[in-house]
Amino acid sequence: MIDMAKAGATTTTATPDLCTLSQDTILHIGFDDTDSTCGKCTTHLAFKITGYLLKNPDTKFLDYPLLVRLNPNIPMKTRGNGAVCLRVMARNHERIIQDIRQLIEKESAIGMGANPGVAFLNGGLVPEALKEFGRFAMFDILSKQKAEKIAKENCVRHFTFGNGQGLVGSLAAIGSLEDGDHTFEAIAYRKCKNYGTTRQINATRVIQYDKRTFPNTFSNYDQNHRRVLIAPHGPDPVFCGIRGESPEVVVSSLEWLQPEEILEGYMVFRSNQGTNMHLQNELKLSAIRVYMAGYVRGKVITKPQTIQGGHVIFGIKDSGGVTGSAAVYEPTGLTKIASQMEIGDVIEIGCGVRKATCNRSPILNVEYISILKIVQIWDLTNPPCKYCTKKMKSEGKNKGFQCDRCRYKDGNAKKIPVLRDRDVLTGLYVPTPKSHRHLTKPLHRYGMEKKSLGFNPRSKLIARWFFTSS
Ligand code: ATP
Repeated sequence: MIDMAKAGATTTTATPDLCTLSQDTILHIGFDDTDSTCGKCTTHLAFKITGYLLKNPDTKFLDYPLLVRLNPNIPMKTRGNGAVCLRVMARNHERIIQDIRQLIEKESAIGMGANPGVAFLNGGLVPEALKEFGRFAMFDILSKQKAEKIAKENCVRHFTFGNGQGLVGSLAAIGSLEDGDHTFEAIAYRKCKNYGTTRQINATRVIQYDKRTFPNTFSNYDQNHRRVLIAPHGPDPVFCGIRGESPEVVVSSLEWLQPEEILEGYMVFRSNQGTNMHLQNELKLSAIRVYMAGYVRGKVITKPQTIQGGHVIFGIKDSGGVTGSAAVYEPTGLTKIASQMEIGDVIEIGCGVRKATCNRSPILNVEYISILKIVQIWDLTNPPCKYCTKKMKSEGKNKGFQCDRCRYKDGNAKKIPVLRDRDVLTGLYVPTPKSHRHLTKPLHRYGMEKKSLGFNPRSKLIARWFFTSS
Protein backbone atom coordinates (compact mmCIF):
# COMPACT_ATOMS: atom_id res chain seq x y z
CA MET A 1 0.00 0.00 0.00
CA ILE A 2 1.25 3.48 -0.84
CA ASP A 3 0.07 6.56 1.02
CA MET A 4 0.01 8.93 -1.93
CA ALA A 5 -1.30 11.93 0.01
CA LYS A 6 1.79 11.74 2.13
CA ALA A 7 3.91 11.28 -0.97
CA GLY A 8 2.75 14.58 -2.40
CA ALA A 9 3.08 16.38 0.88
CA THR A 10 6.63 15.41 1.61
CA THR A 11 8.41 15.38 -1.68
CA THR A 12 7.54 18.32 -3.92
CA THR A 13 10.77 19.68 -5.31
CA ALA A 14 10.38 22.88 -7.22
CA THR A 15 13.59 23.24 -9.18
CA PRO A 16 15.00 26.73 -9.03
CA ASP A 17 15.67 28.70 -12.19
CA LEU A 18 19.15 28.02 -13.55
CA CYS A 19 19.87 31.74 -13.75
CA THR A 20 19.72 31.89 -9.98
CA LEU A 21 21.99 28.85 -9.64
CA SER A 22 25.66 29.07 -9.31
CA GLN A 23 27.15 26.33 -11.51
CA ASP A 24 29.51 25.23 -8.79
CA THR A 25 26.65 24.26 -6.49
CA ILE A 26 25.81 21.45 -8.94
CA LEU A 27 26.98 17.99 -7.99
CA HIS A 28 26.71 14.87 -10.15
CA ILE A 29 26.88 11.71 -8.02
CA GLY A 30 27.49 8.40 -9.80
CA PHE A 31 27.68 4.99 -8.11
CA ASP A 32 27.67 1.34 -9.06
CA ASP A 33 28.44 -2.22 -8.02
CA THR A 34 26.98 -2.03 -4.53
CA ASP A 35 25.16 -5.35 -4.75
CA SER A 36 26.04 -8.96 -5.39
CA THR A 37 24.18 -12.20 -5.94
CA CYS A 38 24.14 -12.51 -2.13
CA GLY A 39 21.91 -9.47 -1.74
CA LYS A 40 21.41 -5.68 -1.80
CA CYS A 41 20.38 -3.64 -4.81
CA THR A 42 21.96 -0.53 -6.30
CA THR A 43 18.61 1.13 -7.11
CA HIS A 44 17.49 0.57 -3.51
CA LEU A 45 20.63 2.23 -2.25
CA ALA A 46 19.87 5.08 -4.66
CA PHE A 47 16.43 5.33 -3.05
CA LYS A 48 18.04 5.59 0.40
CA ILE A 49 20.64 8.14 -0.71
CA THR A 50 17.90 10.19 -2.39
CA GLY A 51 15.92 10.08 0.88
CA TYR A 52 18.98 11.33 2.70
CA LEU A 53 19.51 14.18 0.19
CA LEU A 54 15.84 15.23 0.22
CA LYS A 55 15.92 15.62 4.01
CA ASN A 56 18.30 18.49 3.47
CA PRO A 57 16.25 21.59 2.54
CA ASP A 58 19.29 23.06 0.78
CA THR A 59 19.46 20.21 -1.75
CA LYS A 60 17.44 20.29 -4.97
CA PHE A 61 17.24 17.56 -7.57
CA LEU A 62 17.93 18.89 -11.06
CA ASP A 63 16.83 15.70 -12.77
CA TYR A 64 15.17 12.43 -11.80
CA PRO A 65 17.65 9.89 -10.47
CA LEU A 66 19.15 8.18 -13.51
CA LEU A 67 19.12 4.42 -13.84
CA VAL A 68 21.63 3.74 -16.59
CA ARG A 69 21.83 0.22 -17.98
CA LEU A 70 25.32 -0.40 -19.36
CA ASN A 71 26.64 -3.07 -21.73
CA PRO A 72 24.53 -6.11 -20.83
CA ASN A 73 27.16 -8.57 -22.08
CA ILE A 74 29.93 -7.91 -19.59
CA PRO A 75 30.72 -10.87 -17.31
CA MET A 76 31.16 -8.93 -14.05
CA LYS A 77 27.56 -7.78 -13.84
CA THR A 78 25.27 -9.11 -11.11
CA ARG A 79 21.98 -8.85 -12.98
CA GLY A 80 21.04 -6.00 -15.27
CA ASN A 81 24.27 -3.96 -15.24
CA GLY A 82 22.57 -0.91 -13.82
CA ALA A 83 24.45 2.16 -12.54
CA VAL A 84 22.94 5.28 -10.96
CA CYS A 85 23.56 9.01 -11.23
CA LEU A 86 21.96 11.76 -9.10
CA ARG A 87 22.25 15.35 -10.33
CA VAL A 88 21.65 17.84 -7.54
CA MET A 89 22.23 21.39 -6.53
CA ALA A 90 23.50 21.58 -2.98
CA ARG A 91 25.37 23.87 -0.66
CA ASN A 92 27.59 21.72 1.49
CA HIS A 93 29.31 19.42 -1.00
CA GLU A 94 31.97 18.17 1.37
CA ARG A 95 29.48 16.94 3.95
CA ILE A 96 27.34 15.28 1.23
CA ILE A 97 30.40 13.58 -0.28
CA GLN A 98 31.49 12.16 3.06
CA ASP A 99 27.97 11.06 4.06
CA ILE A 100 27.36 9.31 0.73
CA ARG A 101 30.78 7.67 0.82
CA GLN A 102 29.91 6.27 4.23
CA LEU A 103 26.43 5.16 3.13
CA ILE A 104 27.90 3.31 0.14
CA GLU A 105 30.51 1.63 2.33
CA LYS A 106 27.96 0.64 4.97
CA GLU A 107 25.10 -0.42 2.68
CA SER A 108 27.00 -2.35 -0.02
CA ALA A 109 27.67 -6.07 -0.16
CA ILE A 110 31.43 -5.49 0.18
CA GLY A 111 33.25 -8.77 0.81
CA MET A 112 30.35 -10.69 -0.74
CA GLY A 113 31.06 -9.86 -4.37
CA ALA A 114 30.32 -6.12 -4.56
CA ASN A 115 33.11 -3.79 -5.69
CA PRO A 116 31.57 -0.35 -5.26
CA GLY A 117 32.65 2.87 -6.83
CA VAL A 118 31.24 6.32 -6.17
CA ALA A 119 32.16 9.43 -8.14
CA PHE A 120 31.42 13.13 -7.62
CA LEU A 121 31.63 15.70 -10.40
CA ASN A 122 31.28 19.32 -9.45
CA GLY A 123 29.82 21.88 -11.87
CA GLY A 124 26.99 22.18 -14.36
CA LEU A 125 28.67 20.88 -17.47
CA VAL A 126 29.59 17.23 -17.91
CA PRO A 127 32.94 17.07 -19.78
CA GLU A 128 32.98 15.47 -23.23
CA ALA A 129 35.45 12.83 -22.00
CA LEU A 130 32.90 11.55 -19.49
CA LYS A 131 30.13 11.53 -22.08
CA GLU A 132 32.36 9.52 -24.40
CA PHE A 133 33.21 7.14 -21.57
CA GLY A 134 29.46 6.69 -21.00
CA ARG A 135 28.90 6.02 -24.73
CA PHE A 136 31.62 3.35 -24.83
CA ALA A 137 30.37 1.70 -21.62
CA MET A 138 27.15 0.93 -23.47
CA PHE A 139 28.75 -1.37 -26.01
CA ASP A 140 32.37 -2.08 -25.10
CA ILE A 141 34.32 -3.31 -22.10
CA LEU A 142 36.32 -0.70 -20.19
CA SER A 143 39.02 -1.04 -17.56
CA LYS A 144 39.16 0.42 -14.07
CA GLN A 145 42.52 1.97 -15.03
CA LYS A 146 40.90 3.87 -17.89
CA ALA A 147 38.17 5.06 -15.49
CA GLU A 148 40.80 6.26 -13.00
CA LYS A 149 42.61 8.19 -15.74
CA ILE A 150 39.41 9.90 -16.94
CA ALA A 151 38.44 10.72 -13.34
CA LYS A 152 41.82 12.28 -12.66
CA GLU A 153 41.88 14.31 -15.89
CA ASN A 154 38.41 15.68 -15.23
CA CYS A 155 38.70 16.41 -11.51
CA VAL A 156 36.17 13.77 -10.50
CA ARG A 157 36.44 12.91 -6.79
CA HIS A 158 35.97 9.19 -6.32
CA PHE A 159 36.12 6.40 -3.78
CA THR A 160 36.31 2.71 -4.43
CA PHE A 161 35.98 -0.46 -2.35
CA GLY A 162 36.87 -4.08 -3.06
CA ASN A 163 38.57 -4.24 -6.44
CA GLY A 164 36.95 -0.91 -7.36
CA GLN A 165 35.51 -2.00 -10.71
CA GLY A 166 32.38 -0.04 -9.76
CA LEU A 167 34.21 3.15 -10.74
CA VAL A 168 33.58 2.26 -14.42
CA GLY A 169 29.81 2.30 -13.96
CA SER A 170 29.92 5.35 -11.68
CA LEU A 171 31.67 7.52 -14.28
CA ALA A 172 29.63 6.10 -17.15
CA ALA A 173 26.41 6.97 -15.30
CA ILE A 174 27.53 10.59 -14.84
CA GLY A 175 28.36 10.78 -18.55
CA SER A 176 25.04 9.30 -19.72
CA LEU A 177 21.51 10.38 -20.52
CA GLU A 178 22.06 14.10 -20.87
CA ASP A 179 20.14 13.93 -24.11
CA GLY A 180 18.53 11.47 -26.47
CA ASP A 181 15.97 8.77 -26.01
CA HIS A 182 14.91 7.80 -22.51
CA THR A 183 12.08 6.27 -20.51
CA PHE A 184 10.98 6.32 -16.88
CA GLU A 185 10.50 3.65 -14.25
CA ALA A 186 8.72 3.91 -10.91
CA ILE A 187 10.35 1.31 -8.68
CA ALA A 188 8.55 0.37 -5.46
CA TYR A 189 10.51 -1.10 -2.56
CA ARG A 190 9.45 -3.62 0.10
CA LYS A 191 9.82 -3.35 3.81
CA CYS A 192 12.76 -5.41 4.98
CA LYS A 193 10.54 -7.87 6.88
CA ASN A 194 8.89 -8.90 3.58
CA TYR A 195 12.08 -9.72 1.65
CA GLY A 196 11.91 -13.27 0.33
CA THR A 197 8.11 -13.57 0.65
CA THR A 198 5.85 -13.92 -2.39
CA ARG A 199 4.88 -10.63 -4.00
CA GLN A 200 1.08 -10.32 -4.22
CA ILE A 201 0.42 -8.50 -7.47
CA ASN A 202 -3.10 -8.27 -8.83
CA ALA A 203 -2.72 -9.40 -12.47
CA THR A 204 -6.16 -8.02 -13.40
CA ARG A 205 -5.12 -4.55 -12.30
CA VAL A 206 -1.87 -4.85 -14.25
CA ILE A 207 -3.81 -5.82 -17.39
CA GLN A 208 -6.22 -2.91 -16.80
CA TYR A 209 -3.62 -0.18 -16.52
CA ASP A 210 -1.58 -1.79 -19.31
CA LYS A 211 -4.57 -1.48 -21.67
CA ARG A 212 -5.48 1.98 -20.46
CA THR A 213 -2.03 3.47 -20.72
CA PHE A 214 -0.62 1.71 -23.83
CA PRO A 215 1.71 2.75 -25.51
CA ASN A 216 2.79 5.00 -22.66
CA THR A 217 3.69 2.17 -20.31
CA PHE A 218 5.35 -1.04 -21.44
CA SER A 219 6.67 -4.43 -20.34
CA ASN A 220 3.76 -4.89 -17.93
CA TYR A 221 2.20 -8.12 -19.07
CA ASP A 222 3.04 -10.83 -21.59
CA GLN A 223 -0.29 -11.75 -23.19
CA ASN A 224 1.10 -14.81 -24.97
CA HIS A 225 2.50 -16.39 -21.83
CA ARG A 226 -0.03 -14.82 -19.41
CA ARG A 227 2.76 -13.49 -17.27
CA VAL A 228 3.08 -10.36 -15.15
CA LEU A 229 6.40 -8.73 -16.05
CA ILE A 230 6.67 -5.90 -13.52
CA ALA A 231 7.95 -7.87 -10.52
CA PRO A 232 11.20 -9.71 -9.95
CA HIS A 233 11.14 -13.11 -8.27
CA GLY A 234 14.18 -13.02 -6.02
CA PRO A 235 14.58 -12.00 -2.38
CA ASP A 236 15.65 -8.46 -3.31
CA PRO A 237 14.06 -5.23 -2.01
CA VAL A 238 12.26 -4.40 -5.26
CA PHE A 239 8.50 -4.98 -5.07
CA CYS A 240 7.79 -3.98 -8.66
CA GLY A 241 8.85 -1.54 -11.38
CA ILE A 242 6.56 0.15 -13.87
CA ARG A 243 8.12 1.47 -17.05
CA GLY A 244 6.77 4.15 -19.32
CA GLU A 245 7.21 7.33 -21.28
CA SER A 246 6.61 9.92 -18.55
CA PRO A 247 7.00 10.21 -14.78
CA GLU A 248 3.26 10.92 -14.47
CA VAL A 249 2.14 7.74 -16.20
CA VAL A 250 4.44 5.42 -14.24
CA VAL A 251 3.34 6.91 -10.90
CA SER A 252 -0.36 6.85 -11.75
CA SER A 253 -0.05 3.22 -12.88
CA LEU A 254 1.64 2.35 -9.60
CA GLU A 255 -1.25 4.05 -7.76
CA TRP A 256 -3.72 2.04 -9.83
CA LEU A 257 -2.02 -1.20 -8.82
CA GLN A 258 -3.01 -0.68 -5.17
CA PRO A 259 -0.59 -3.21 -3.74
CA GLU A 260 -1.84 -4.75 -0.50
CA GLU A 261 1.65 -5.07 0.93
CA ILE A 262 2.79 -2.08 2.99
CA LEU A 263 5.76 -0.76 1.05
CA GLU A 264 8.84 1.13 2.12
CA GLY A 265 8.26 3.62 -0.69
CA TYR A 266 8.97 4.23 -4.35
CA MET A 267 11.05 6.44 -6.59
CA VAL A 268 10.89 7.49 -10.24
CA PHE A 269 14.06 6.95 -12.28
CA ARG A 270 14.83 8.32 -15.72
CA SER A 271 16.48 5.58 -17.69
CA ASN A 272 17.78 4.24 -20.98
CA GLN A 273 15.70 1.09 -20.51
CA GLY A 274 13.67 0.15 -23.57
CA THR A 275 15.84 2.26 -25.90
CA ASN A 276 18.28 -0.25 -27.49
CA MET A 277 21.04 2.19 -26.52
CA HIS A 278 23.59 -0.65 -26.44
CA LEU A 279 22.93 -1.51 -30.08
CA GLN A 280 23.61 1.89 -31.68
CA ASN A 281 27.12 1.26 -33.05
CA GLU A 282 27.88 -0.77 -36.14
CA LEU A 283 30.14 -3.72 -35.42
CA LYS A 284 32.68 -4.64 -38.06
CA LEU A 285 33.38 -8.35 -37.88
CA SER A 286 37.08 -7.70 -38.51
CA ALA A 287 37.27 -5.65 -35.29
CA ILE A 288 34.87 -7.29 -32.87
CA ARG A 289 35.94 -8.15 -29.35
CA VAL A 290 34.28 -10.45 -26.94
CA TYR A 291 31.38 -8.90 -24.90
CA MET A 292 30.86 -6.04 -27.36
CA ALA A 293 27.32 -5.07 -28.35
CA GLY A 294 26.06 -3.43 -31.52
CA TYR A 295 24.57 -4.23 -34.89
CA VAL A 296 25.94 -6.01 -37.92
CA ARG A 297 24.70 -5.54 -41.49
CA GLY A 298 25.41 -8.20 -44.02
CA LYS A 299 24.29 -11.21 -46.01
CA VAL A 300 23.25 -14.63 -44.81
CA ILE A 301 25.90 -17.04 -46.12
CA THR A 302 24.81 -20.41 -44.77
CA LYS A 303 21.39 -21.98 -44.57
CA PRO A 304 20.14 -21.52 -40.98
CA GLN A 305 20.39 -24.73 -39.00
CA THR A 306 18.27 -25.68 -36.01
CA ILE A 307 20.34 -27.28 -33.28
CA GLN A 308 19.57 -29.03 -30.01
CA GLY A 309 17.34 -26.90 -27.80
CA GLY A 310 15.63 -25.31 -30.82
CA HIS A 311 18.28 -22.61 -31.26
CA VAL A 312 19.16 -21.52 -34.80
CA ILE A 313 22.70 -20.89 -36.10
CA PHE A 314 23.66 -19.26 -39.39
CA GLY A 315 26.63 -17.63 -41.08
CA ILE A 316 26.77 -13.95 -41.94
CA LYS A 317 29.18 -11.88 -44.07
CA ASP A 318 29.42 -8.13 -43.33
CA SER A 319 30.02 -5.30 -45.80
CA GLY A 320 33.79 -5.69 -45.33
CA GLY A 321 33.57 -9.30 -46.57
CA VAL A 322 34.37 -10.78 -43.15
CA THR A 323 32.31 -13.76 -42.02
CA GLY A 324 30.98 -14.78 -38.62
CA SER A 325 28.43 -17.05 -36.95
CA ALA A 326 25.19 -15.86 -35.40
CA ALA A 327 22.96 -17.66 -32.90
CA VAL A 328 19.27 -17.09 -32.31
CA TYR A 329 18.16 -18.57 -29.01
CA GLU A 330 14.88 -20.39 -28.70
CA PRO A 331 13.43 -18.26 -25.83
CA THR A 332 13.67 -15.10 -27.94
CA GLY A 333 10.84 -16.35 -30.14
CA LEU A 334 12.92 -15.33 -33.19
CA THR A 335 13.91 -18.83 -34.27
CA LYS A 336 10.99 -19.30 -36.69
CA ILE A 337 11.85 -16.22 -38.75
CA ALA A 338 15.59 -17.00 -38.49
CA SER A 339 15.11 -20.51 -39.87
CA GLN A 340 13.19 -19.10 -42.86
CA MET A 341 16.15 -16.99 -44.01
CA GLU A 342 18.03 -18.03 -47.12
CA ILE A 343 21.57 -17.59 -48.35
CA GLY A 344 21.81 -14.13 -49.91
CA ASP A 345 19.16 -12.43 -47.76
CA VAL A 346 20.36 -9.00 -46.63
CA ILE A 347 19.84 -8.48 -42.91
CA GLU A 348 20.77 -6.37 -39.93
CA ILE A 349 21.10 -8.04 -36.55
CA GLY A 350 21.37 -6.44 -33.13
CA CYS A 351 23.75 -8.62 -31.16
CA GLY A 352 26.24 -9.22 -28.39
CA VAL A 353 29.57 -10.98 -28.95
CA ARG A 354 29.76 -14.21 -26.96
CA LYS A 355 33.06 -15.57 -25.79
CA ALA A 356 34.69 -18.15 -28.07
CA THR A 357 34.72 -21.71 -26.79
CA CYS A 358 37.46 -24.26 -27.57
CA ASN A 359 35.75 -25.46 -30.74
CA ARG A 360 33.95 -22.31 -31.86
CA SER A 361 35.04 -18.81 -32.78
CA PRO A 362 33.09 -15.91 -31.19
CA ILE A 363 29.37 -16.09 -31.84
CA LEU A 364 26.98 -13.18 -32.29
CA ASN A 365 24.03 -13.62 -29.95
CA VAL A 366 21.09 -12.14 -31.84
CA GLU A 367 18.83 -9.61 -30.09
CA TYR A 368 16.75 -8.52 -33.09
CA ILE A 369 16.61 -9.32 -36.78
CA SER A 370 15.76 -6.79 -39.42
CA ILE A 371 15.28 -8.38 -42.85
CA LEU A 372 16.24 -5.75 -45.39
CA LYS A 373 16.09 -7.65 -48.68
CA ILE A 374 14.83 -11.10 -49.56
CA VAL A 375 16.50 -13.03 -52.35
CA GLN A 376 14.46 -14.80 -54.98
CA ILE A 377 14.84 -18.57 -54.80
CA TRP A 378 14.28 -20.67 -57.91
CA ASP A 379 13.50 -24.33 -57.34
CA LEU A 380 13.87 -26.89 -60.14
CA THR A 381 10.75 -28.94 -60.70
CA ASN A 382 9.60 -31.62 -63.19
CA PRO A 383 7.99 -30.16 -66.35
CA PRO A 384 4.21 -30.40 -66.91
CA CYS A 385 2.79 -32.70 -69.62
CA LYS A 386 2.00 -30.57 -72.67
CA TYR A 387 -1.25 -32.52 -73.32
CA CYS A 388 -2.84 -33.02 -69.88
CA THR A 389 -0.68 -30.56 -67.76
CA LYS A 390 0.02 -33.17 -65.10
CA LYS A 391 3.53 -33.04 -63.75
CA MET A 392 5.65 -35.66 -65.54
CA LYS A 393 7.93 -38.24 -63.97
CA SER A 394 11.65 -38.53 -64.64
CA GLU A 395 12.76 -41.52 -66.74
CA GLY A 396 16.21 -41.41 -65.20
CA LYS A 397 19.26 -39.20 -65.57
CA ASN A 398 19.27 -37.54 -69.04
CA LYS A 399 16.46 -39.86 -70.21
CA GLY A 400 13.70 -37.29 -70.28
CA PHE A 401 10.24 -37.35 -68.67
CA GLN A 402 6.98 -39.27 -69.08
CA CYS A 403 3.42 -38.44 -68.09
CA ASP A 404 1.93 -41.31 -66.11
CA ARG A 405 -1.63 -40.18 -66.87
CA CYS A 406 -1.63 -39.91 -70.70
CA ARG A 407 1.69 -41.76 -71.25
CA TYR A 408 3.15 -38.88 -73.31
CA LYS A 409 6.93 -39.15 -73.33
CA ASP A 410 9.45 -36.36 -74.00
CA GLY A 411 13.06 -37.50 -74.18
CA ASN A 412 14.38 -33.90 -74.33
CA ALA A 413 12.37 -32.36 -71.50
CA LYS A 414 14.32 -30.75 -68.68
CA LYS A 415 13.48 -29.64 -65.17
CA ILE A 416 12.07 -26.11 -65.10
CA PRO A 417 12.82 -23.29 -62.63
CA VAL A 418 9.89 -22.18 -60.47
CA LEU A 419 9.98 -19.12 -58.22
CA ARG A 420 9.56 -20.17 -54.59
CA ASP A 421 6.92 -18.46 -52.50
CA ARG A 422 9.20 -17.30 -49.64
CA ASP A 423 6.44 -16.54 -47.14
CA VAL A 424 8.81 -14.09 -45.41
CA LEU A 425 8.32 -10.35 -45.13
CA THR A 426 11.04 -7.74 -44.92
CA GLY A 427 10.92 -5.80 -41.66
CA LEU A 428 11.91 -5.83 -38.04
CA TYR A 429 11.56 -8.86 -35.76
CA VAL A 430 12.07 -8.36 -32.01
CA PRO A 431 12.08 -10.90 -29.17
CA THR A 432 9.00 -11.93 -27.27
CA PRO A 433 8.39 -9.67 -24.20
CA LYS A 434 9.29 -12.31 -21.64
CA SER A 435 12.82 -12.54 -23.04
CA HIS A 436 13.36 -8.77 -23.27
CA ARG A 437 16.46 -7.41 -21.60
CA HIS A 438 16.24 -4.12 -19.73
CA LEU A 439 17.59 -2.27 -22.76
CA THR A 440 15.48 -4.05 -25.38
CA LYS A 441 13.34 -1.58 -27.29
CA PRO A 442 9.79 -2.95 -27.52
CA LEU A 443 8.36 -2.98 -31.04
CA HIS A 444 5.81 -0.25 -30.30
CA ARG A 445 8.55 2.20 -29.15
CA TYR A 446 10.06 2.35 -32.66
CA GLY A 447 9.09 5.85 -33.81
CA MET A 448 8.38 7.04 -30.25
CA GLU A 449 12.02 7.87 -29.42
CA LYS A 450 12.52 11.13 -27.52
CA LYS A 451 14.98 13.54 -29.04
CA SER A 452 14.61 16.37 -26.55
CA LEU A 453 17.16 17.10 -23.88
CA GLY A 454 16.87 14.59 -21.08
CA PHE A 455 18.70 16.76 -18.59
CA ASN A 456 17.10 20.17 -18.48
CA PRO A 457 17.57 21.88 -15.16
CA ARG A 458 14.91 24.44 -16.03
CA SER A 459 12.07 21.90 -16.02
CA LYS A 460 10.44 20.79 -12.80
CA LEU A 461 10.19 17.30 -11.44
CA ILE A 462 6.65 16.10 -10.77
CA ALA A 463 5.47 16.39 -7.19
CA ARG A 464 5.14 12.67 -6.46
CA TRP A 465 8.37 11.34 -7.89
CA PHE A 466 9.61 10.12 -4.49
CA PHE A 467 7.85 8.65 -1.50
CA THR A 468 9.18 7.01 1.61
CA SER A 469 7.13 5.68 4.50
CA SER A 470 9.93 6.25 6.98
P1 ATP B 1 22.19 -4.77 -10.51
O1 ATP B 1 21.59 -4.67 -11.86
O2 ATP B 1 21.57 -5.78 -9.66
O3 ATP B 1 22.32 -3.42 -9.85
P2 ATP B 1 24.54 -5.13 -11.88
O4 ATP B 1 24.15 -6.16 -12.85
O5 ATP B 1 24.47 -3.68 -12.20
O6 ATP B 1 23.71 -5.28 -10.61
P3 ATP B 1 27.06 -4.70 -10.68
O7 ATP B 1 27.11 -5.39 -9.38
O8 ATP B 1 26.76 -3.26 -10.69
O9 ATP B 1 26.02 -5.49 -11.54
O10 ATP B 1 28.40 -4.99 -11.47
C1 ATP B 1 28.67 -4.48 -12.73
C2 ATP B 1 30.14 -4.11 -12.77
O11 ATP B 1 30.57 -3.98 -14.10
C3 ATP B 1 30.43 -2.79 -12.11
O12 ATP B 1 31.64 -2.90 -11.43
C4 ATP B 1 30.57 -1.81 -13.27
O13 ATP B 1 31.42 -0.73 -12.98
C5 ATP B 1 31.17 -2.71 -14.29
N1 ATP B 1 30.86 -2.32 -15.66
C6 ATP B 1 29.71 -1.87 -16.15
N2 ATP B 1 29.79 -1.65 -17.48
C7 ATP B 1 31.06 -1.94 -17.83
C8 ATP B 1 31.78 -1.90 -19.06
N3 ATP B 1 31.20 -1.54 -20.18
N4 ATP B 1 33.08 -2.28 -19.03
C9 ATP B 1 33.67 -2.68 -17.89
N5 ATP B 1 33.05 -2.74 -16.70
C10 ATP B 1 31.75 -2.38 -16.66
